[in-house]
Amino acid sequence: MRLSRSFLPTLKEVPAEAQIASHRLMLRAGLVRQTASGIYAWLPAGLRVLQNIARIVREEQDAVGSQEVLMPTLQAADLWRRSGRYDAYGPEMLRIRDRHERDLLYGPTNEEMITDIFGQMAKSYRDLPRNLYQIQWKFRDEVRPRFGVMRGREFYMKDGYSFDLDYQGAVDSYRRMMLAYVRTFQRLGVVAIPMQADTGPIGGELSHEFIILAPTGESGVFFDGAFEDQDWLGEQVDQENSDSLQRFFDRMTSFYAATDEKHDEVRWAEVPHERRREGRGIEVGQIFYFGKKYTESMDVSVSGPDGKPLHPEMGSYGIGVSRLVGAIIEASHDEAGIIWPDSVAPFRAAILNLKPGDAACDALCDRLYATDPQNLLLDDRADRAGAKFADADLMGHPWQLVVGPRGAASGTVELKRRATGEREEIAADEALARIA
Ligand code: ATP
Ligand code: MG
Ligand code: MG
Ligand code: MG
Repeated sequence: MRLSRSFLPTLKEVPAEAQIASHRLMLRAGLVRQTASGIYAWLPAGLRVLQNIARIVREEQDAVGSQEVLMPTLQAADLWRRSGRYDAYGPEMLRIRDRHERDLLYGPTNEEMITDIFGQMAKSYRDLPRNLYQIQWKFRDEVRPRFGVMRGREFYMKDGYSFDLDYQGAVDSYRRMMLAYVRTFQRLGVVAIPMQADTGPIGGELSHEFIILAPTGESGVFFDGAFEDQDWLGEQVDQENSDSLQRFFDRMTSFYAATDEKHDEVRWAEVPHERRREGRGIEVGQIFYFGKKYTESMDVSVSGPDGKPLHPEMGSYGIGVSRLVGAIIEASHDEAGIIWPDSVAPFRAAILNLKPGDAACDALCDRLYATDPQNLLLDDRADRAGAKFADADLMGHPWQLVVGPRGAASGTVELKRRATGEREEIAADEALARIA
């Protein structure tokens, strides 16, 4: 993309309404604009990040055998009356009435809808197990929307649902999803630690929250720093084998991790001193096993192997895709701006033309840019060099290729790595190879 022709508006001033770094930086870097309290429009750079996160989430869901669906944002109130949650959910649910006076709601989550859909299609135990997910907008009328997209009212969530024949199958599904989650977060370049959690309004008995460490987080967290060194992408797990899934689950939950509500001083004392990590955390995902809660209350059953009806066992699995944009920035920024992990960055690199109009600079920039115009951002504006450096640092591109008249004459660029600040003068082609 050429900066001179794109809609990537950056702000120099620090927006007064933003209390935390990620919110300030998202506004300053032109990723989002608020359109109403807790409701945001995604601008081109922000949308690219959102889509990159969604792509990684999708790939890892697919890799554990979950299938993507897309359900509507609006749901009939009657669906929620069947489970009893229409009244129980409270004021976070946005309730709507159509012209025929029928009650609707903007979905805050989709257990009822997926249970109903599954129940209409599944007839026998041979239709189990199944695992479905979607990435769709949700609405929760949060009492205090704040911190930008981290606690919005409208937000983008991956929500997944598993249906199993029995308890063991459901536990396997839960553990498989846990594997998908640690892999997803590692690919996103964040350390998200699974912590045992209460199940809240979803209900059920087994739940983990995935929490990122950030000073502005809403809960206190304590965990064993050894978790950070684990390579979950290299973990060998046979997804079809319960014992293998259990070994993975046991290993992962062997690292001490707890929010302040569940903190246990006795077990904490057993964690070696130098490995104790303590701070604030942000929830970026949560998984639940809740058995037959919805299949029983909504009377969804399939015929079992013995011909008798049985209620499938369920779990549900959420990831805050839009919250992650803020959470990643909370965990990865400095005074100058965002530092995007390579996997989610809106552009792989920015090419800074320090002297537009200079024939050698323009020619080298065009040659670099032509190698991948979809994923490179060419700063070809007639602006001061200082403004270009500042914008590139603010927007957080993993790499900057700086092209000035002296280097252009000899075919070299200055390559800067945003995360470390390291710079080196190298041949243009070598720079292209390095950022690949
Ligand atoms: P919180 O404790 O922050 O209110 P939650 O426990 O109510 O979140 P879940 O029902 O577990 O949320 O939903 C799954 C995920 O959706 C959360 O882990 C979070 O990442 C995301 N999420 C929930 N509420 C919001 C929101 N208001 N804005 C952005 N993301 C959200
Ligand atoms: Mg909530
Ligand atoms: Mg929560
Ligand atoms: Mg939660």
